Formats: sequence, C-alpha cells, structure tokens
Amino acid sequence: MSSPDKKNYHSQVSETVKSKKVSCNGGGGALGHPKIYLDMGKENQIICPYCSKIFILEL
Ligand SMILES: [Zn+2]
Repeated sequence: MSSPDKKNYHSQVSETVKSKKVSCNGGGGALGHPKIYLDMGKENQIICPYCSKIFILEL
C-alpha cells in the first residue's frame, strides 16, 4: 500500500475587498513576495498566484 500523504490546506487565508482590482505582497516580511496587482475580471474572487491568498469581493 502506498503511504498516505495528506497535506493541510486549511491554512489558506482569505480577505474581503471592495474593489475588483487588488494588490498583494503576501503581507510583507519573510512570507512576502513582490507586489502584484490582480484583476478579478468577471469573477467575484481571485487567488494570488504567489501566496494563494483568496480575495473575495464584498458586495
Ligand atoms: Zn499574495
């Protein structure tokens, strides 16, 4: 049998925002990443490709 390799995905962070265009730098510090801008387009949420933080549009 193959050994189970379960990973914990429950550490994902989300934030509600009031604009479809958001910027993210991972929160800065050691866990940060270069600041990027994200545009949700037709969606009401977007996930940062660097830190997987979820931005949810607050309606
Ligand atoms: Zn990020």
